[in-house]
Parts: sequence; structure tokens; C-alpha cells
Amino acid sequence: MSGTIFTKIMNREIPADIVHEDDVSLAFRDINPQAPVHLLIIPKKEIATINDMEEGDRELVGHLYWVAAKLAKEMGFADEGYRTVMNCGESAGQSVFHIHLHVLAGKPLGWPPYTDKMKQA
Ligand code: 5GP
Repeated sequence: MSGTIFTKIMNREIPADIVHEDDVSLAFRDINPQAPVHLLIIPKKEIATINDMEEGDRELVGHLYWVAAKLAKEMGFADEGYRTVMNCGESAGQSVFHIHLHVLAGKPLGWPPYTDKMKQA
């Protein structure tokens, strides 16, 4: 894997609004937010999709959820509720091939998440 835009953010080659960093993960605000709060939490390890996870990555991916819960508490939306999403593959909407956990909060979020148009497909 040659690296995506998220590698550039990790390496501080392009700016991002970083809200958390530790030895294995980074969290920053999405450039095109779909809710008042829209964070992306990534592992520093470059893993293209969920399908590319190795057995040894299980704890690392669990760590992303731990960071989500920590930020939700710190940023004050834990009790109100939030959505976590990890898209896998193009038809699921994945556009950056470095796994990332979306964290959305700050408004009521509809469920199910698909549109009528998608239902007919
Ligand atoms: P995906 O579609 O792969 O699930 O999510 C990729 C997300 O990355 C999108 O929500 C998109 O707005 C966000 N994104 C793409 N490029 C950048 C960037 O350069 N900076 C930031 N902060 N977010 C980005």
C-alpha cells in the first residue's frame, strides 16, 4: 500500500483538525462533515479495507472504538448518542482506502441509512 491522503495527514504533510493522537491511532474532523460532529478515527497502520485486516489487527481495530467512546465523553455527546460507521469497499461508499471509523453526532440520525433510491436498486 503506497499510502492515501490519511497517511499525509498522519505525517503532517497536509493539515487536518486533529482531536486525538496516541501511539497507534489518530482522530481528526472530516473535511466534509455529514453531521455537526463528524470525526474520523484511523489506525496509524495502513490497512486498506476491513477485508485486509490480519488476525493481529483485532485489538487495533477495537482500539478505534475505545477512542470513539473516549472522545464522545470528552466532547460531550456520549449521552446524547452517536453513530459509528466503517465502510468497506466502493459500493459501501468507501473512498479512502485506509480504514477509518466515522463518528457522527450532534443531530438526530435517520435509520436505516439508505435512501429510497438505493432500496429500489
Ligand atoms: P469513506 O467514504 O472512505 O468512508 O470516508 C472518507 C471520508 O474522508 C469522507 O467522509 C471524506 O469527507 C473524508 N476526507 C477525504 N479527504 C479528506 C481530507 O483531506 N481531510 C479530511 N479531514 N477528511 C477527508
